[in-house]
Amino acid sequence: LKKSKKALAGENLLLTLTIIGVLVGVLIGFLVRMAHPGEVAIKLVNFPGDLLIRMLKMLILPLIVSSLIAGLASLDAGASGKMGRRAILYYFGTTVLAVVLGLVLVVVIHPGKTKAGLSSEKQEHINTLDAFLDLIRNMFPSNLIQACFETQKTVYKEVRHPVAVITHDNITNATQRVTVLPTMISEISINSDSSNITKNITVAKFEHVGEEHFVDGMNVLGLVVFSIAFGITMSNIGEGGEPIKRFFLSLNEVVMKLVGIVMWYSPVGIMFLIAGQIIKMDDFGKVMGSLGLYMVTVILGLLIHSMVTLPAIYFAVVRKNPFIYMKGVLQALVTAFGTASSSATLPVTFRCLENNLNVDKRVTRFVLPIGATVNMDGTALYEAVASVFIAQVNGITLNFGQLITVSLTATLAAIGAAGIPQAGTVTILLVLTAVGLPAEDVSLIMAIDWFLDRIRTAVNVLGDAYGTGIVYHLSKSELADADAREEAKAIEE
Ligand code: ASP
Repeated sequence: LKKSKKALAGENLLLTLTIIGVLVGVLIGFLVRMAHPGEVAIKLVNFPGDLLIRMLKMLILPLIVSSLIAGLASLDAGASGKMGRRAILYYFGTTVLAVVLGLVLVVVIHPGKTKAGLSSEKQEHINTLDAFLDLIRNMFPSNLIQACFETQKTVYKEVRHPVAVITHDNITNATQRVTVLPTMISEISINSDSSNITKNITVAKFEHVGEEHFVDGMNVLGLVVFSIAFGITMSNIGEGGEPIKRFFLSLNEVVMKLVGIVMWYSPVGIMFLIAGQIIKMDDFGKVMGSLGLYMVTVILGLLIHSMVTLPAIYFAVVRKNPFIYMKGVLQALVTAFGTASSSATLPVTFRCLENNLNVDKRVTRFVLPIGATVNMDGTALYEAVASVFIAQVNGITLNFGQLITVSLTATLAAIGAAGIPQAGTVTILLVLTAVGLPAEDVSLIMAIDWFLDRIRTAVNVLGDAYGTGIVYHLSKSELADADAREEAKAIEE
């Protein structure tokens, strides 16, 4: 008891320091910003935060793999199956609730006025089917080592097919006549020798061709799927799997100890991450006019989802105070806000649930890595709001069928989004193209996205935490059975 009291005091101190870190970070950010810092100063402010992200990221790979394998090793097939089904039901249900809430709010509040004052840049082309196939493909990485640092993605390239070359002699006399749309002109070259000037206009058709590429960034989904398959198989083969089971259990323990050490650096890291962001952000005043109401809509949705919907679901199932539970994961929520990455926050979420809320390790190890990878309520809500906002800005009213398409693709886009900063602004292209909205208009909302990203990441993490608590509560009888079996086995031996 004495030890746990000490541990609790430690956790409280850490949380206090982290919150102070956020506040001091905001202060430093504004002070440095007012001093109009040079390149070197900005580099130095960003450095300590970058170190925190690197340390957390460093832990993700051994943490995910060892916790899933160790977690499944201590559950029998029946228990893990039931837990998995409960988790998936919760993830899917809460994501859909978030999307619907986002849609209702954005339709009612109608934050999108006219396009005036907003400018957009060209974005990459994307195709709904390919994005879906990429998601499935990434579940089965062809090379595990490569999956540790690269993710597969279908990238669209613009391919040019020349259809004609028109030559103008002396600029004025065209030798051919072809009807040309401005978008078909791919090249104009002027050749001149002493007496003659020729102008060649190459006319071409463009086609978007998808090619499979690998992009930087760990394929967490692939590693999760592999670890689940590996863990289940290992626990099924019994004695033969024992040595490797012990290896992963021990690896998991060591990694969690490392997490405990890195944690004490996080107040400093988060302070500088926030300061760096404030220095580089766009002027709030400029952004507010056109994006203020959009921001309010997203934040209101995230607030309702995190303060009403999720706590209500937790209370309905567990019958305990959801806000005391929320306080237990506060450290993870602040880290999510600081890092804007639910993957980088995963080590902290583990600690909060296991140390502060005493959730059984067999549940956290299995349920949490999956949640951090596929369950993103905040991202889903944001994708729904942002897509309809972009439609409103373009003067387009989406019909009911299109809103259904937005819900489905926003859910898919949230599942497919990696737990890294602003992943949502990439997967939203899927939603936009599915309902025929201009993909390049995603740049309209970029000025404020750093802020919304941090809040939605905290909501993503909160959703994972409540989900783990709910699955733990529902799985208590299976866990007790497993304990009883272990005990009987020990007595027999
Ligand atoms: N940054 C978010 C996360 O890590 C993903 C996103 O919505 O961009 O959970």
